[in-house]
Amino acid sequence: MTDVDVVIVGAGAAGLAAAKTVRAAGLSFKVVEAMDRIGGRAFTSSDHFGVPFDIGCAWLHAADRNPFFEEAKTADWTLHHHPMEVDHLYFGRTKAGETDEADMRDADAQLAKLLETYDGRDDRVSALLASGHAPRAAATFAGPMDFGVDYDEISVQDFRQAADLEPNYFTREGFGALVARWGADVPVELSTPVNKIRWDGNGVEIVTPRGWIRGRAVIVTASPAVLAFEEIDFFPDLPEAHMRAFFDLPMGLLTKIPVEITGTRLGLRPFEDLLIERPARHDVYFLCFPFDLDLMVGFVGGDFAWELSAAGEAAGVDFVVNRLVDIFGGDIRSHVRRSMMTNWAAERYVRGAYAAARPGRAGARDVLKQPVADKIFFAGEHLAGPLMQTCAGARLSGEAVALQLIERLNGGCPAVGTSQRREMGDKIQEPIRRSSVGPARDDQNGVQPT
Ligand SMILES: Cc1cc2nc3c(=O)[nH]c(=O)nc-3n(C[C@H](O)[C@H](O)[C@H](O)COP(=O)(O)OP(=O)(O)OC[C@H]3O[C@@H](n4cnc5c(N)ncnc54)[C@H](O)[C@@H]3O)c2cc1C
Repeated sequence: MTDVDVVIVGAGAAGLAAAKTVRAAGLSFKVVEAMDRIGGRAFTSSDHFGVPFDIGCAWLHAADRNPFFEEAKTADWTLHHHPMEVDHLYFGRTKAGETDEADMRDADAQLAKLLETYDGRDDRVSALLASGHAPRAAATFAGPMDFGVDYDEISVQDFRQAADLEPNYFTREGFGALVARWGADVPVELSTPVNKIRWDGNGVEIVTPRGWIRGRAVIVTASPAVLAFEEIDFFPDLPEAHMRAFFDLPMGLLTKIPVEITGTRLGLRPFEDLLIERPARHDVYFLCFPFDLDLMVGFVGGDFAWELSAAGEAAGVDFVVNRLVDIFGGDIRSHVRRSMMTNWAAERYVRGAYAAARPGRAGARDVLKQPVADKIFFAGEHLAGPLMQTCAGARLSGEAVALQLIERLNGGCPAVGTSQRREMGDKIQEPIRRSSVGPARDDQNGVQPT
């Protein structure tokens, strides 16, 4: 049995940020992590292609508000500005004409405007969509490929709360590696899943297979899907409203299927974006040859991503290669080398990519911002305000919640020396809606480190 001020469940961006904030305030803490590594959904691996590849988050979104961006610059890592735009649009095997591409941009702008002025009851985003191929393509890019959810399962209120994520950057060394580097100074009990949290006595008791930890309070950063599934047994039960909120924030899914292509660039330039709209919503987006690596990174999202997770990696890779054959011809098969498919759906302690509220249930995020009995606090990407779903948002949420907790433990006094951190936490409150399809970008000839 260990006694600390604060126990932190999870060593992803939110948990690591909470730990650093609690430590800066001079409180004792313990971080317990189910996986055998830190970072959670931020994870870079060189195992598959011999170069860093982000299995989880990759874009440093909202770089002007993203604390990780400054760290990447300080570390002198290679950065590339990447506007989220569709450079090449296909309907099946057919290349879209310029009119279609312009229509897609118009549809996106129209959707943004409708969302801004919408004052009806919380509905599905699909209710605001015009019919036709181009509006559907815009919705695919903003829906499954970005929000991780099909557009008829996205809540209007939730979607409009999400921030514009420009400017977006990539780092060659990997976003996961950046989070691991930043979090390396935090002591973490790895491979230690929390099974139970007792909060019936003074403080909390955290039960793990390796023993108990007693704390004055706990910050839980597990995803709402993990909590809805009751991987952690709370005793006594959490209030009904909190349990309902976990259920109302199901995880969307984004799956990456990178394929190594050698000896040809297919007439594409590094970092171009290619979207293929297909029947039955079996759409796929490619990030082309990032950093001029031999990789075409396929992405599928929403229901189709769950379907491919069940079908397995071989089916996923075949699907992606067949789509490249559709467009670039059968010869491309002789250029295909290594491949893989991410599967966050099967990651027991995550269970998806990131949370999105059910239509009509956007208020679930506010419910989970309420601590239980002043000793169980929740943090993570799902509670990151307009930076929801992002790694920077998770970090800022962890900091903001830790500050809230410290203030409670200090009997209402803010933590000493935390004003700068408080400012950072405030950034997650900025309400600007996310936009997806920008204007045609000006020439970006190859890799442009800043
Ligand atoms: C495929 C994919 C692509 C993405 N792309 C981007 C992107 O480009 N840019 C971006 O900014 N964001 C992106 N994201 C989202 C981003 O990765 C997440 O928002 C962020 O990393 C979440 O951080 P977190 O701390 O809230 O949660 P997590 O990283 O999930 O951390 C929570 C931790 O809690 C642990 N845990 C859970 N249950 C228990 C338990 N019972 N006991 C102990 N530990 C437990 C988990 O193992 C995990 O490590 C992407 C995510 C995915 C999956």
